[in-house]
Amino acid sequence: MSEIMEMLIRRGFLWQSFEIYGGIAGFIDYGPLGNGLRRRLENLWREFFVVNERAVEIDCPTIGIEEVYVASGHATSFTDVAIECSECGKVYRADHYVKEKLGFEIDESVEAVREILKEFDLRCECGGKFKDPEPFNLMFETKIGPGRGKKGYLRPETAQGIFIAFRRLSDYFRDKLPFGVAQVGRSYRNEISPRQGVIRLREFNQAELEYFVHPEKKTHPGFENYREKVVKLVDKRDVEHEIELGKAVKKGIILNELIAYFIAKTEEFLIKAGIDRSKLRFRQHKDDERAHYACDCWDAEVLTSYGWIEVVGIADRGCYDLSRHMEYSGEDMTVFIPYKEPVKVKKKVVIPDMKKLGPLFKKKAKKVAEELKKMVPSEKIVVVLDGEEVEVPRECYRIEEVEEIVHGEKVVPHVIEPSFGLDRITYAILEHSFDTDVVDGEERKVLRLKRWMAPVQVAVLPLLSREPFTSKALEITNELKKVGIFTEYDDSGSIGRRYRRYDEIGTPFCITVDHQTFEDETVTLRDRDTTSQIRIAIKSLSDVLVNLLNSERDIREFGEVFRE
Ligand code: AMP
Repeated sequence: MSEIMEMLIRRGFLWQSFEIYGGIAGFIDYGPLGNGLRRRLENLWREFFVVNERAVEIDCPTIGIEEVYVASGHATSFTDVAIECSECGKVYRADHYVKEKLGFEIDESVEAVREILKEFDLRCECGGKFKDPEPFNLMFETKIGPGRGKKGYLRPETAQGIFIAFRRLSDYFRDKLPFGVAQVGRSYRNEISPRQGVIRLREFNQAELEYFVHPEKKTHPGFENYREKVVKLVDKRDVEHEIELGKAVKKGIILNELIAYFIAKTEEFLIKAGIDRSKLRFRQHKDDERAHYACDCWDAEVLTSYGWIEVVGIADRGCYDLSRHMEYSGEDMTVFIPYKEPVKVKKKVVIPDMKKLGPLFKKKAKKVAEELKKMVPSEKIVVVLDGEEVEVPRECYRIEEVEEIVHGEKVVPHVIEPSFGLDRITYAILEHSFDTDVVDGEERKVLRLKRWMAPVQVAVLPLLSREPFTSKALEITNELKKVGIFTEYDDSGSIGRRYRRYDEIGTPFCITVDHQTFEDETVTLRDRDTTSQIRIAIKSLSDVLVNLLNSERDIREFGEVFRE
């Protein structure tokens, strides 16, 4: 890990934020290359989860008002248990500290932590005793406006912005389920003691899709393509399966086809982005591990030098969020689902008898009649008149069966959410791509990024840093940039050293302008992975490169190798 981190910092992928002031855990800056890689990942994600779904992307504020997080449950439930040393004042996240010191997982409740502290006499690293454990809310609080202002929170997930705007989004989709709404952006969690470098951040990037469906139709037409796809699963009882997705649903390991569909799609996306398939699995949350809103949840986990880390959470959030916002805001969050044909239904109704109600309720009789019509038929009916409950005598109304024509039903949609942590995936891609081999008798560091993910896709190198080599190389650089290839020009240092630099930052191809260029208008094209080189005409460069960068084709298909 330290070797990779050293390279990532030295080459400008990422570094600790606020470095010159000593830094603080949980924040990183993306340098030019890291930023480029994360942006490529973001765009690939869009291609998979927005463009190729019935989905749209929106962008909401990163600050939310208090009401949102009271309704969503985050204000009360989005907590970890913290333990503070009474001697040195250091604070730890209890479950992580217990795992590190005692080697086992614990229930994330204050009571469970209290028990463990007592039973094992667990102490701080300084030897001090811990104070009584306390829940710690992970949301950053803020104040909106001057004076007392209004309480707000930095969003802990992008999802809530989507739920709140549901009415407008449903209108946009003409109230036709299913539809998906995505959001990509920053989320904030005031992690208690983030000691896992780039893995546990306090400000991070999420890409979330909220896929709204009819509660009884949790499937996807695209699932047919994946029914026989074999994936590696670890179920909630820690049993491992290598199983076809269709069978996993049939056996009840995965709750429904829609979750299975997103597991398949997530796997495809991660592999396309550069995650090593042999270091990828899907782990189901245990019953006591699931978030307050989820009824089934699977994490995509990848193996890194930090161990298995969660990079994606795929949760069936049911109707939890929409129901809660409906309850707290009073806004109707249902969707009207028309039946194919209207149906006749028989139902019992209350029919007021004005002759009896008039003498009894006088001026209020009309109001009582209106209230009665709204009531569920019963032998005892109580209505509220001017804030007072009044029982209506049985002889004042009849109960009759009537036939009604119904055109459809209102439902609160359910939502399946694949939620991606872009920072963790970016880091895992870097680790999985990092490799060393031997070239010309020397050890070489090489980042085997997928060609379409590389922050610098092509480097154009004049053999000598003087005219006419430099002008020609700059000319080629500009031509390649024009066709959308991320190209860098570099004339510093020996050609061998430049090749090594571009191998190390994962640039798939280097072009060298050499003496022969001025004889026959050709350049050399060098492949990062094999280091083999072909000669190629300048005029066909952009076509060949666009082709190569969007595929895994071998450069030898485009010219004869003159140097291995
Ligand atoms: P969650 O809402 O907890 O399921 O998080 C969704 C995804 O966001 C996870 O799978 C992670 O990849 C990412 N994530 C969550 N917390 C953090 C964090 N503190 N730092 C970086 N990424 C995170």
